[in-house]
Amino acid sequence: MAAETLAAAGARVLLAEAKPSVGRKLLMAGKSGLNLTKDEPPAIFADAYGPAAEWLGPMLVAFGPAEARDWARGLGQEVFTGTSGRVFPVAMKASPLLRAWLARLTGAGVEIRARWRWLGWAEDGAARFATPEGARTLAPRVTVLALGGASWARLGSDGAWAQILAARGVPLAPFAPSNGGFRVDWSPAMARHFGAAIKPVALSAGGRTARGEFVLTAGGVEGGGIYALGPVLRDGAALTLDLLPDRAEAETARRLARPRGGASLSNHLRKTLNLGPAKIALLRECVPDIAGAGPEALARALKALPLPLLGPAPMDEAISTAGGVARAGLDPALMARAVPGTFCAGEMLDWDAPTGGYLMTACLATGRWAGLAAARALSDASSG
Ligand SMILES: Cc1cc2nc3c(=O)[nH]c(=O)nc-3n(C[C@H](O)[C@H](O)[C@H](O)COP(=O)(O)OP(=O)(O)OC[C@H]3O[C@@H](n4cnc5c(N)ncnc54)[C@H](O)[C@@H]3O)c2cc1C
Repeated sequence: MAAETLAAAGARVLLAEAKPSVGRKLLMAGKSGLNLTKDEPPAIFADAYGPAAEWLGPMLVAFGPAEARDWARGLGQEVFTGTSGRVFPVAMKASPLLRAWLARLTGAGVEIRARWRWLGWAEDGAARFATPEGARTLAPRVTVLALGGASWARLGSDGAWAQILAARGVPLAPFAPSNGGFRVDWSPAMARHFGAAIKPVALSAGGRTARGEFVLTAGGVEGGGIYALGPVLRDGAALTLDLLPDRAEAETARRLARPRGGASLSNHLRKTLNLGPAKIALLRECVPDIAGAGPEALARALKALPLPLLGPAPMDEAISTAGGVARAGLDPALMARAVPGTFCAGEMLDWDAPTGGYLMTACLATGRWAGLAAARALSDASSG
């Protein structure tokens, strides 16, 4: 996005990518349909960025959900709005969009160099690269770094840039997994439910509640409902589940008080509350002595089931990472105060958001913002 913006402003642009090809994480995001943005009013959309909403606000006003849709259409990708306002390309993958984008970039004169790893700065301030032809240095008039976060390192975003920037005095917030799973020490009885979706469910932690769903995995839990509470869960807040978010506790207890006859607890839960096997297993797992409980205690457990988490799943498995270049280290144009002429954009910046298209939109918006600012810096220098 920054490269395209700079090229459109007439700059000669070289795009250096460490991996053998560009956009590998974009292609991976395409495997789940490529949720580009969310069809929401601007204020609600911006809220998803939590403490960074104010910082990113002007960038998202300049390039928000409507612009993200137009951008995809401009690359020949018709989009549609799915349930809950999530916007996807009709193709439900990233490859046609990426192909069209690369063709447009090349057409605009952007030179793409794959297997060029940026290594930081030489003594004289030149940019250093490791390339297949050996070490190279370049002295660009402006640089936009868009090096990604620190998860899915095999796709290129290994976070190795953090040390380079820290050494130059750019303040960084520590990386933390975001939109990732949390670990649970399941008993063997849970194994047959791995892969099962728990839905509908309301999840509460740290005074926040999110309605959604999640999946039971061998290592723990993951999915939208968990991601939505990620920041508070990361801070150690206890998680409780409401397995019957559409039924009040009193009504739940009343149903459970119906005569049970010789039915097992599982059958009783299924018949009176239409509870599926995975939810029943979760109830038994989290409250091992539930079998002898009366209707009120059972209803209470179903409406506020404590699920002990051991902590986040490994960062490399997270969809995104929080942390990165701190706002304080950048001017409002996203230029690093410690390295004039160097701008930062995308997931490498210290903002965080849930899944839902917020990640991609902010990456595009900040890339465009940095590109425009870098182009302004070039023209100021020329006219000055
Ligand atoms: C499985 C998965 C699904 C996702 N689904 C969605 C989704 O549906 N919607 C959504 O909004 N977001 C989604 N995301 C998140 C989204 O893909 C990222 O937030 C986004 O790609 C970040 O863009 P970026 O340009 O900042 O970084 P990246 O896309 O990570 O790109 C950074 C690039 O910099 C390169 N690089 C790193 N270091 C160097 C170096 N030293 N020199 C040269 N090049 C370097 C990397 O190789 C990489 O190509 C998903 C992520 C994953 C993992």
